[in-house]
Amino acid sequence: MGDRFHTNSPLAPGVVVLRGPEAHHLGTVCRARPGDELRLFNGDGHEYPARVVEVGRRDVAVEVLAVESPARELPFALRVAAPLPKGDRAQFLVEKLTELGVAELTLLTTRRSVVSPREAKLDRLARYVIEASKQCGRNVLMRVAGPVAWEAIVQQEMAPLRLVAHPGGGVLPARGEGDVSVAVGPEGGLTEEEVALAVSAGWQPVGLGPRILRIETAAVALAALLASP
Ligand code: SAH
Repeated sequence: MGDRFHTNSPLAPGVVVLRGPEAHHLGTVCRARPGDELRLFNGDGHEYPARVVEVGRRDVAVEVLAVESPARELPFALRVAAPLPKGDRAQFLVEKLTELGVAELTLLTTRRSVVSPREAKLDRLARYVIEASKQCGRNVLMRVAGPVAWEAIVQQEMAPLRLVAHPGGGVLPARGEGDVSVAVGPEGGLTEEEVALAVSAGWQPVGLGPRILRIETAAVALAALLASP
């Protein structure tokens, strides 16, 4: 896939000037030189092979040579709703869900959530999405949304298949063709009322084995099971 760089700018064949952290990474960290080849993406679904034209102190001019549209997304929208785990585990969650092709991560507040997503640095989470996308080749960025309350998410989600990870829940149903929404509870667990509310709104409880998993393990495991071709 070669070296991939993200930019917020619109991209089209022709010369584009990169600024900010990506220009710094390209010019200073990677020591790019005129003539070097790279691939740009901005989250619009395409990938843009390009060549370095000029390296300045604060910006790098590159020439976009072509527009490519490799298929790297899942054939359905997979949305995950979960409370934000603490510390480095938030980064793990965002990174792995991005790699697995998840379309959207919604940060949840529940009765027993500990970390309030309001305190979380959403821009930092967006950065993890970009870093993971550079590495895994995604040209569509996973959206990070929320915080949204449990009551709201279980009633708003309209995917034909809606699964709530719950210890002691049933087996994973067949995926079918449509979109899938997955919800995971906090470390303190979902309350019986929260699970009952989801079930009455059409969500199916799914078990992931007889051990208690962390939020990010449950979310990544379920996403991987659903994302596998
Ligand atoms: N003490 C809590 C554990 C919470 S673990 C309880 O007993 O419910 C955090 C979340 O991860 C859970 O709310 C659930 O959504 C998911 N999870 C953890 N282990 C799981 C398992 N074995 N099967 C399905 N979901 C699980």
